[in-house]
Amino acid sequence: MNNKINQILKGSSSGVGIAKAYAFVIDNSARNIREYDKKSTKKIQLKKYNSAKNRLIKEFEQIKKVLGETDSDYKDIFETNILMLGDPELSSEIIKNIEEGKTSEFSVAVSYDFYISKLLATDNQYLRDRSEDLIHLRSLLIDYILKDSQEYRLEKGGIAVMDLVSTRDIYNFDKQSVRGIVSQRGGLTSHAVILARAFKIPMIVGVKDALKKISGGDQLLLNCSKASVCINPDDSLLEEFQKEKDNVDKRKERLLAEVKNNNQSENEVKLLLNVDFKEEIEEVHNLGAQGVGLLRTESIFGSKDLNDQEYQLRIYKDLAEKTFPKKINIRLFDIGNDKLLGNFSSSEVNPALGQRGIRFLRNNPLVLEIQLRAILKASTLGNIKITLPMVTNIEDLLWFKDFMTKVERELSEENVEYKKCEIGVMLEIPSVSFSLGAFSKEIDFVSIGTNDLAQYFFASDRTQDNVAGYYNYYDPSFLRFLNFSVAECKKYEVPVSVCGEMAADLDFVPLLLAMGVDSLSMSASLLPDVKECVVNLDNRKIAELLANVLLANNSDDVKNYLAQCVIVK
Ligand code: PEP
Ligand code: MG
Repeated sequence: MNNKINQILKGSSSGVGIAKAYAFVIDNSARNIREYDKKSTKKIQLKKYNSAKNRLIKEFEQIKKVLGETDSDYKDIFETNILMLGDPELSSEIIKNIEEGKTSEFSVAVSYDFYISKLLATDNQYLRDRSEDLIHLRSLLIDYILKDSQEYRLEKGGIAVMDLVSTRDIYNFDKQSVRGIVSQRGGLTSHAVILARAFKIPMIVGVKDALKKISGGDQLLLNCSKASVCINPDDSLLEEFQKEKDNVDKRKERLLAEVKNNNQSENEVKLLLNVDFKEEIEEVHNLGAQGVGLLRTESIFGSKDLNDQEYQLRIYKDLAEKTFPKKINIRLFDIGNDKLLGNFSSSEVNPALGQRGIRFLRNNPLVLEIQLRAILKASTLGNIKITLPMVTNIEDLLWFKDFMTKVERELSEENVEYKKCEIGVMLEIPSVSFSLGAFSKEIDFVSIGTNDLAQYFFASDRTQDNVAGYYNYYDPSFLRFLNFSVAECKKYEVPVSVCGEMAADLDFVPLLLAMGVDSLSMSASLLPDVKECVVNLDNRKIAELLANVLLANNSDDVKNYLAQCVIVK
């Protein structure tokens, strides 16, 4: 009897979707790798290695072909992986080990480990990052050699089960194939979760012991609304799941039809889109969003050469044209911390508090100059806004404005056409809230990045589940601080939007509206639900709710108010 039937594991949900598929477990740590196999021969071992390698290359080629029609960025990642798999030096090292009588899995493991440690020992961050690719390839090759769960990888749809998922993993997944992701660790506002949401991949994070409890091939039901994963459901649970899935699908269809037909009224809060990859731009018009509230340029260009101005210009121009006549808010590279670093190196002990966003750009003015020139050249339709990430003080802003004036002057001297862009700052470091008087004289808008604001307010790493309890939007101190920040923006008449994950959390949408934010910017997959919530709210009731919540003693009180109050019309 299978003791895993109907076993339910709980975690935290990325918010969207429901999925049924088989598990493919990607466990980079535990595997039974024997050095010798007396029953085997060198010939068999060599064949095993070659067929695993060739099979992987063939799969990557297939994926590359599919991606080639839609996205060249991901295509490049697979291209690099193919080159690494075929690397002659690495391959001959593996073959040498096999010739010495070792198993193919052991030969792959030691040879890859040798190159991984060589890359990790360099000072070059770009090369160190490549070590992650090698770790991934090592794991895939060994899986294939050991015939461990390979049927579920890349070819058929499956639910990936991993310890920790990185943004690189999300890019590496075949989006057509992966139906869902379960991870043992990770915070809900980590960029991996944000990307998974952008790609509409249901994901549950913080599922304790997932790797112990789930085996490759187990059937899984992943339900984001319950933040649960069910292992090997019986017939009655499967039936229940199917009913719920039908309801979710019908609701999604209905909401999509509604957002498309519904033009927002003038005094309603504006709903904007966060864009993390280029193709998402189509959703602006599909979903009736009123523009792009946040274009994460580091997500879009993260794996590219950031010196390629022409490439950046092409993308910005295309995105601005596709958004027109609506506005697109381009955030300058927020490089650092858990975001892709391109080919820049960082050896900071505490990167979340280090050279991130505008701090990085001040130290790397050439990166900023190239990006600004590309953005300005793409601005001719007049619908581009520019936002500065990770601003700490007014000096950051004034430095940037001087820099921008210099770039504009140079473009004018070169007779390059451009339009004036509105300038705004991300409010994600609490110090900015106390300087809004000074900021207001220099900016056109403020975007509140609640993901980072909460991280810096509570001194709790947004990517780490062991401190996730401290990272708590329900804490009344945070809500009071947010209310103060919005009120300061209003006092100084600066338009204010919220573009962190909180903007699409249905518990907080009413509170943000009652605080008086002008717009909410969010992932496409969440916009229809937020839209439905917004049109049904009673303004008087949400004002009362906010007043109560701001006086609450603790998060439980806040949750109680939210649960008890009827705030719909
Ligand atoms: C935020 O910090 O809330 C935000 C929107 O920026 P990011 O998540 O990209 O850091
Ligand atoms: Mg941020």
